Amino acid sequence: MTLDDAPVDLRSDTVTQPSPAMREAMYRAAVGDDVYLEDPTVNALQERAAALLGFEAALFVPTGTMGNQICLRLHAPPGSEIIVEARAHIYEWELGAPAALSGLTPRLVPSERGLPTWEAIAAAIQPRVYYRTRTALLCLENTHNMHGGTVAPPAAVARILQEAAACGLPVHLDGARLFNAAVACGLRVAELAQGFSSVMICLSKGLGAPVGSLVFGTRDFIERARTVRKMLGGGMRQAGVLAAAGLVALEEGPAHLADDHANARWLAAELAQLPGLDVDLTRVETNIVMCDVTPTGMTASDFCAGLKSCGVLAGPAGPYTVRFVTHRDAPRSACQRAVEAIAGFLKNRLS
Ligand SMILES: *Cc1c(COP(=O)(O)O)cnc(C)c1O
Repeated sequence: MTLDDAPVDLRSDTVTQPSPAMREAMYRAAVGDDVYLEDPTVNALQERAAALLGFEAALFVPTGTMGNQICLRLHAPPGSEIIVEARAHIYEWELGAPAALSGLTPRLVPSERGLPTWEAIAAAIQPRVYYRTRTALLCLENTHNMHGGTVAPPAAVARILQEAAACGLPVHLDGARLFNAAVACGLRVAELAQGFSSVMICLSKGLGAPVGSLVFGTRDFIERARTVRKMLGGGMRQAGVLAAAGLVALEEGPAHLADDHANARWLAAELAQLPGLDVDLTRVETNIVMCDVTPTGMTASDFCAGLKSCGVLAGPAGPYTVRFVTHRDAPRSACQRAVEAIAGFLKNRLS
């Protein structure tokens, strides 16, 4: 298969191949046993990342899901509640892990664009009497995946953090795509991470690393996070080969995100003009495009299956919603090929 007839894969920004610089760094990485804290490359990644986000310490974890779940477990005792946005990754895509692993009940708060208002959050906090469930943690997500990569407005986040602190409520940030948010609002990631009790970011999404996420917190929190990571089976040995790619991802990854965002805006505008597709262009703030296929008469799954046979991969994000995600291995030329293929597919199906 030549590059030109390889499918254009827009299912997720996780599909990127390691860059040449990453493979080179992985090949050369100095490694040791990270369970004994002796992997110099893992240690370097954790120190570099902690400095970048403005936290005391960081922990390298295999996946974002494990990172989020470690934080939940440390903040909230079994039997307590966590407040999460209704379409949050922690609720929709982590397989009931808060309940299964930590005995937690998620209390859902809906929102317009991914960030609930403080008023909605406050109404979800349970009264502090012994016969009511304790509210132990608030979780926010930035950018918000299922709302279409929307960025949490920094001023609204600051207000929520201030009010939550006044209530003594810790706040965890699922920042799988926090670098996308930073690029979109022209701020440093440290500014968007400031004030949270803990943060999780993914190296394996838009930043392009093959594997890995990081958890951030105080030195004491990260010590305890290491114990929970081991308990969950996430204690890795010569993980420096992976951390080496992560270090390169932190260096070269952010510079590519502006292109991903421009490609998503371009793709969204093109798709919006095709018959049968509804795209809310105001929601395309980063690298995700949500497309309502209801007018085609197809379900999202049927649409994606049909599209696959035309050489474009996308994923269902709801019964009639298809998600396209731009990334560094799908440059503008690939997005152009995708639009042509989608236009051809619709012409064929709708005629
Ligand atoms: C991808 C993602 C995660 C983590 O996913 P893993 O596949 O477990 O690495 C967490 N939160 C959000 C919002 C995500 O998009």
